[in-house]
Amino acid sequence: MDFAFSPEEEAFRAQVAAFLEKEVPREYREKRITFFDMSAQSDWIQVHRSMAEKMGEKGWLSMHWPEKYGGRGVSPFYRLILREELARYHSPGYDSIGCGIVAPALLLKGSEVQKKRHLPGIASGKSMWCETLSEPNHGSDLAAIEVFAREEADCFVVNGQKIWTTNGHFADWNALIVRTDREASPNYRGLTFFLVDMKTPGITVNPVINMAGHHEFNEVFFEDVSIPKENIVGGLNKGFYVVMSLLDYERTTDTVYAIAATYLRDLEEYACDNDLLNPVLENRFAQFKAECEVARLLHYRCAWMQSQGMVPNHESAMSKMFSFELHQRISDFGMEVAGPYSQLTEESALAPMFGRISSCYLRSFAYSLEQGTSEIDRDVIAQRGLGLPRLR
Ligand SMILES: Cc1cc2nc3c(=O)[nH]c(=O)nc-3n(C[C@H](O)[C@H](O)[C@H](O)COP(=O)(O)OP(=O)(O)OC[C@H]3O[C@@H](n4cnc5c(N)ncnc54)[C@H](O)[C@@H]3O)c2cc1C
Repeated sequence: MDFAFSPEEEAFRAQVAAFLEKEVPREYREKRITFFDMSAQSDWIQVHRSMAEKMGEKGWLSMHWPEKYGGRGVSPFYRLILREELARYHSPGYDSIGCGIVAPALLLKGSEVQKKRHLPGIASGKSMWCETLSEPNHGSDLAAIEVFAREEADCFVVNGQKIWTTNGHFADWNALIVRTDREASPNYRGLTFFLVDMKTPGITVNPVINMAGHHEFNEVFFEDVSIPKENIVGGLNKGFYVVMSLLDYERTTDTVYAIAATYLRDLEEYACDNDLLNPVLENRFAQFKAECEVARLLHYRCAWMQSQGMVPNHESAMSKMFSFELHQRISDFGMEVAGPYSQLTEESALAPMFGRISSCYLRSFAYSLEQGTSEIDRDVIAQRGLGLPRLR
């Protein structure tokens, strides 16, 4: 088996690396800001938008889309290469929700009008997205969600609350799933998926501050929010099917193995520079290095399936669960590498890696929750991968 990239793919990687070498703000690389810790930077949103637009101008955010929709029809490995390099250079700029989740869902389930309306904004990096699936009482069990949209002549009117909305405080558009039929049996047949302009009157976004003290997610309130019927994706009461295919993409969007491998490399450099290495630490570094390789190959399998027109399902659950949990364990290991100093936050001049170690550790608790929990991933692997019965 040959896992090598083609000369064209390697040339693309070199092109991306040269671009990032020049464009990523120096501070981001010096401080070794990780993808999941970007909101620690006060200028993050501006840098994120500006990097996205620069990559959009080059056509890099949509390379693997069909040419008909502004892509170049290349394999999904180009997206993977881009994201590996973004991780390696500590760069913001990739809208995981717009590029990684909404665009593939639209390509699969959107109408021609919706594709023409929304794909150019995502490809150019100019329109940023959030997704409002979770509610205070329903996260894993999306089939039971309660936020309701009432049908009127030419629109639906939404009332209720969503929560944990990543990037909701600056997103231009929102992928929303709500209940449109309270009598439907089974309950998942009563859900509809909408595209919502975040400037629509009646939407209020309140910050939720994470454990590391940073603002990345929000609660979102809908008060008589009117959404035109043409913004329904996949048909009335068929939203659950859109969400299920969207989750298959969400689990592979973030190339977490690359983000984890970059953090491991940063820790290794810190340990070497500060003469902290000992045989026990060396062994742990070696073990994690091997596990990053496993995570990388699990992810490559998903990219390969996508390149063949297949939609990875239990394969993407396996890749996502393994790489997020690995990143969680490496974040925990970071606390050992720097000893008691690891606890210091970036306000302290003595904090190792500008406070990244404590910040990454605190952020890492969410890794087994976000994008669906590890337990749900294991359910998917057990039932769809192993064919075991559904016991809950
Ligand atoms: C950093 C972060 C970002 C997020 N961003 C977004 C976002 O942008 N948009 C959005 O809509 N949501 C977002 N979420 C929410 C996330 O998707 C949910 O937290 C997640 O799906 C779990 O839902 P819950 O929190 O309601 O927990 P629950 O569903 O109540 O689960 C509680 C516990 O029970 C376990 N459990 C539940 N059901 C089962 C089962 N069938 N089998 C085994 N165990 C089970 C879970 O694994 C979990 O440990 C984000 C979450 C985090 C942490």
